[in-house]
Amino acid sequence: MKSKPKDSKKLVINVSSFANLWEARRWASLFLKEHNREEGVADLLLMDLMSMSKSQILAAMRDDFPQEVQAKFIERIYQHVDNGTPVQHLIGYEYFYGRKFKVNRDVLIPRPETEELVHLVLKQIEKEFDEKEPAKVIDVGAGSGIIGITMKKENPALDVQAVDISRKALEVAKVNAKNLMADVRFVEGDFLTPFIDVGAKADVVISNPPYISADDEDSLDDVVRLHDPKLALFAEDDGLAAYKKIMYQLPQVVNGKALVAFEIGDQQGAAVQKLMKAVFPKSEPEIVQDINKKDRIVYAWI
Ligand code: GLN
Repeated sequence: MKSKPKDSKKLVINVSSFANLWEARRWASLFLKEHNREEGVADLLLMDLMSMSKSQILAAMRDDFPQEVQAKFIERIYQHVDNGTPVQHLIGYEYFYGRKFKVNRDVLIPRPETEELVHLVLKQIEKEFDEKEPAKVIDVGAGSGIIGITMKKENPALDVQAVDISRKALEVAKVNAKNLMADVRFVEGDFLTPFIDVGAKADVVISNPPYISADDEDSLDDVVRLHDPKLALFAEDDGLAAYKKIMYQLPQVVNGKALVAFEIGDQQGAAVQKLMKAVFPKSEPEIVQDINKKDRIVYAWI
């Protein structure tokens, strides 16, 4: 856990104006480092405030740094240092699969690991499904909508629906779908229940459900613990409750040949694999590691 920054304001009491971007960036990097925050946050804030790319920022180091922008920059650095407000909440977006997604306190901030899940599923669909019969996809736990929207953008032939129990999350997801012109249908409800209720079927079910055990809450960084929605992070039953719920509902939703893929916590591979095997005895669930060599995905053709 990060230690609470002490006297953060005192350290910069004399900072009233920086001569240029370079000075501001140097101050911020040291200040962030001093408080165990990631130094990269400074560049992300600068890029946003200046509407510049990283290379444009680097090229503008010796240029003037407008006063009013400086004030905003300093304020945001404080907000991040003092209470761990994620940089994505300060700027209002995060990139996922190369696209910009609106985020706020109502949705989980997209993680790069989830890009690997989406990539794997897109590849599997490409291999196994006939383009003439577009696969029906359900994204369970839409959050900001990253999974469903990205799938639709990458493979426009897909028929994509996404479900979430949080109305506020769905509002964000809908804005993202609109901004990115993605034809995804959003449904409010508990896991697969709304689809079961109307007898809807799917060929692909993909989900990054809440999977952190409540026991691990204290070990989370405050940037996550205090700012991502609890509903998106935590699950009962050692973090396995959402997998169980979805798995037991799956037989009522999947078509004959279907792909099921979950993002998992790095210690949950065996448990989720076993669960899938119990519900679909003929399946051969595979555990896939992420770029950091941690178990991250369980998937199977069922
Ligand atoms: N599907 C969204 C994501 O992957 C939200 C997941 C969640 O809230 N657990 O970011």
